[in-house]
Order: sequence, then structure tokens, then C-alpha cells
Amino acid sequence: MNGPTSDDDRLVTSKRAEEDAAELALRPQTLGDFIGQKQLRENLKIYITAAKSRKEALDHVLFHGPPGLGKTTLAQIVAREMGVGFRATSGPVIQKAGDLAAQLTNLQPHDVLFIDEIHRLSPSIEEILYPAMEDFQLDLMIGEGPAARSVRIELQPFTLVGATTRSGLMTRPLRERFGIPLRMVFYEPAELETIVHRAARVLKMEMAKDGGAEIAKRSRGTPRVANRLLRRVRDFAAVGGHSVVDAKVADEALSRLEVDGRGLDAMDRHYLACIAENYGGGPVGVETLAAALSEQRDVIEDVIEPYLMQLGLLMRTPRGRLLSESGYRHLGVVVPREQKRQLDLLAAGEPEDEA
Ligand code: ADP
Repeated sequence: MNGPTSDDDRLVTSKRAEEDAAELALRPQTLGDFIGQKQLRENLKIYITAAKSRKEALDHVLFHGPPGLGKTTLAQIVAREMGVGFRATSGPVIQKAGDLAAQLTNLQPHDVLFIDEIHRLSPSIEEILYPAMEDFQLDLMIGEGPAARSVRIELQPFTLVGATTRSGLMTRPLRERFGIPLRMVFYEPAELETIVHRAARVLKMEMAKDGGAEIAKRSRGTPRVANRLLRRVRDFAAVGGHSVVDAKVADEALSRLEVDGRGLDAMDRHYLACIAENYGGGPVGVETLAAALSEQRDVIEDVIEPYLMQLGLLMRTPRGRLLSESGYRHLGVVVPREQKRQLDLLAAGEPEDEA
């Protein structure tokens, strides 16, 4: 199979990429503009209104969910709706206590500090964050050896907004310091359709109703993917001389890009085929799969698997990854008899687990 060789080459990847400067123009600016995540949005609105009426900083917020669902966008919206400043950094960027101290001491009252990939903060940085979150105090060690002393700095009340693709990797004390944990879910096709049409308007593309639906259906439930597919379809339409993007134009472009009817690309199919062909349909451990596919475990767990599980093509069991009957069907392969028995047993009630 001559599909993409790494996640960075993927068209449907939901990870950020350089071209995403174009995404900036597409970001919704207010809660009212933000499409989907209805319940989360309504709750957030209540918390924001309450905090504003008390003239307090909003409690710390943690967004978790797969990449590209709008965590950064919402963090910015929180700041805008609160009418406060916004600063952004990320877990891996904060290497030293001083890096975090510089961010925290620069905050104005009630500002939002956004930390992306917060599960990747080092333990020593987390220790500093606890009192900052709880009491708005910073305890720092100044100097080294016998001359070292600890100083306490008072901070302005602020809101920490954390984002993580894997809240399970966060330490419990950190997770528990977020008063408002919010889980992001994959978008419904109808919501993505609205997002695609909105983005098409921003990009001044002429989009037929069925064209938007076709792109939405193939966007892995993820706005970032929808926007990216839209831009690629636009290229194909321009070169093909189509002034309006309808379902046929979209389908032609997406098929050429090897994005199938349910939004799976060559990499997803390669992943499913690997389980079917090399491991008898599973269960197989994620490390083994990562090695077999020459892919990072993180990418498999954060980017590839969540959507395949959402579609019911894949199951995570305590013993490893297992291809479901739908997974076989998607590959156009008949379920081997032995495997069918295993799947039936599982369906009959053997406990399934979030590995
Ligand atoms: P995350 O931080 O979860 O990886 P982002 O907030 O960076 O995701 O969102 C990725 C892109 O998807 C944004 O640039 C924005 O254009 C788009 N997007 C996300 N959520 C929505 C939404 N609800 N409506 C419209 N566009 C959205």
C-alpha cells in the first residue's frame, strides 16, 4: 500500500500543521458562533455568566478530547467572553520553573492562561502549579546550595485553561484542581455540515448543499479535518474548472485523495488491515502495532484509534486492540470463524475496558 508514511503526511490528520495559519480566519470568535458541543457550551455559558456577575475569575477549566475538536478555540472564546486577556503556552514548552513563573507573574487580574498538552508538564513544574492554582501563590527557590532560599510571590487571580488529548495521563492532583472539567466529543455530521458551509463562505467558495454534506460525512467528526478537506477540495475544483462544489465534485476530489466514504484514509485502512492480516483480528497490544506500523504510540492512541472506535470498527479490550465485525466489513473481508466466536463472546458480556 503506498499510503502516507507518517501521520504528518496525512490529509485527515487532526494534528496541527503549518498551513493552519489559514485556520485562524475560520476560528469562531464567540460562544454564539461556536457550532456543536451543545451541552458543554451551555454549561460553560452558565459558569461564565456566574463568574462575571460575582466579578471573580472563572474557575480553572480543563478541556479533554481528541485533537482538532476546538479546545484552543474554546479557550480563546472563554477569555473573550470573560473580557480578559489571553496567554497561551504548552506543556512541553515549559521546561523550567522560571518559564512558568514568567507566564504567571505577567497575568492581569482574571486573565486566562492556556496550557495546551497539559499532560506533558514535568512533575517539578506541576508542583509549582498547585499553589498557583489553589491560592494564587508562587513558591520559588532562588539560588542554589546552602544559599538557596524560597520566596513566595502573590499572583493575581487567574483562570488556568488546560487542554489534553489524554486526561488519563494527567496526575490526579493536577486533574482535581480543575473545577470545570469538560469533555469534547466528536461532531455530528449535521454540525460539521454547518461548519463546512460557514468555512466555505469565509473562503468565498460556492458550495452546494450536497457538497457540504459530502465533505462533512468524510471529516472524522473533526472540524479541523473538515476545514482541511474543504481546502483540498477547493484546489481540485479550481483545477477541474468547477465553479460550484457539489457532492460529485467533492466525492471525486476526496476519492482521489484516498479518503473513503466514512472519512478513513490510507493510514486508517492500513492500521485495520494490519490487525486483520498480521494479528488474526487481535487482540494485539498497542506497542506491537506501533512497531509494526512504524508509528508513534501517541499518534495511534490520540489520532487514529478514537475515531475508529467511535465508528465501532475497533474495540479496545484489556488484552489489546480487536477488530470488530464492522471493521472486517469495512475492509471487505469475511470474519474468520475463530474470530467470530471471540467477538460473539465479547458481545455476550465479557467486560470491555478502556485500555
Ligand atoms: P484543538 O485545540 O482541540 O486541537 P482547535 O481549537 O485548534 O482544536 O480547532 C481546530 C480548528 O477547527 C480551528 O481552527 C477552527 O477553525 C475549527 N473549529 C473547531 N471547532 C469549531 C467549531 N465548533 N465551529 C467551527 N470551527 C471550529
